[in-house]
Amino acid sequence: MGGEIRAARLADIEEKLANVYQLFQWLSSFSVITKKRGDAKNQEYWYVTLYFLRLTHTSATAPMNSPPEQVKSGIVALIGPPNVGKSTLLNSLLGQKISIVSPKPQTTRNRILGIVNGPDYQIVMLDTPGIHKARSPLNLEMVKIALGSLADVDAIVFMVDVTMPLPSTGTTLTRCLDGIDKPVLLLLNKMDLIDKEKLLPIIATYQGLYPFQAILPLSAKASDGTDLVIQELCPLLPTGPRLYPEDIPTDASERFILAEIIREKIFLQTGQEIPYSTAVTIESFKENAAKQLITIHATIYVEKDSQKGIIIGKNGSKLKQLGQAARRDIEILLDQHVLLKLWVKVQKDWTNDPRFLRELGF
Ligand code: GDP
Ligand code: MG
Repeated sequence: MGGEIRAARLADIEEKLANVYQLFQWLSSFSVITKKRGDAKNQEYWYVTLYFLRLTHTSATAPMNSPPEQVKSGIVALIGPPNVGKSTLLNSLLGQKISIVSPKPQTTRNRILGIVNGPDYQIVMLDTPGIHKARSPLNLEMVKIALGSLADVDAIVFMVDVTMPLPSTGTTLTRCLDGIDKPVLLLLNKMDLIDKEKLLPIIATYQGLYPFQAILPLSAKASDGTDLVIQELCPLLPTGPRLYPEDIPTDASERFILAEIIREKIFLQTGQEIPYSTAVTIESFKENAAKQLITIHATIYVEKDSQKGIIIGKNGSKLKQLGQAARRDIEILLDQHVLLKLWVKVQKDWTNDPRFLRELGF
């Protein structure tokens, strides 16, 4: 009897250790990326995300006893002028919405990381703001971010819209690729909008501008030709372990990201134990195009009544503070006004409740 319990405990400890080992591996691969990029905000955010996933849901993950699997894995920057379909491609590759797609240019202010996982590859994609003529200070900042993301990547995917006027030498395109010693894949997007016979001269023009690794016509919106993008990218990436856990992207929907932003604020604004007992779900997400307003309802789950009190604070002051901070970040992410409504609910001992964990998607 006692022996059995001991064995169960040992197995438990072993699993926890395996998880810690895995955590360290991820964090170290992560710090490499952080060092390379020096872009604190986004990276910190992912750091926090990974950290939380590990700490609050260790029981839900399989231990890693064998050495990490070797796959083609690397970082790819997705660049190009605004509105050509970069976010659409990323979303199509991920099979779900993570990056924000909008008919308005410049929605993507920050680089958003999308991780495309396959059986033998992992492509970490940076969806960058468009490279274009910078006029306002904000645009200048965006071009800087876009250019900065080119330096340390394994490959670059440059996307253009086939309906755009063809560039000539000395354009933004050649200027920003000048001196970059990384393979560049050119994607000719929105093929669904032109006749096939118009394609050859377009390809010839781009070929004359830059020694692209390959030129691929596609329609990101129709997910037509997107598989080829993966096929062309994989050989350009180094072989090694995955840079990120494989199970992140399935959770990295827009809702997941919004929930993580709220959780991040709880982490920043409350004491030690609270964040680990907190889960956030997005109940509804309604866009009102006419009013340019997005209304988001979210629930913060805690394990105990006392924790609920802490999160709500005196006369609701803490919750208000959390909500304001989260709303500011979400507004930047979505580039829209946001009305954020937060509820706090007690779900007793939820971290040990498999059914509730499943409901949360873990
Ligand atoms: P980004 O600024 O480069 O990230 O561009 P988005 O992905 O936000 O797309 C800009 C607009 O182009 C959106 O309205 C998309 O629906 C549209 N779009 C993207 N890909 C295609 C495509 O392959 N064909 C067509 N017709 N439209 C597309
Ligand atoms: Mg975009």
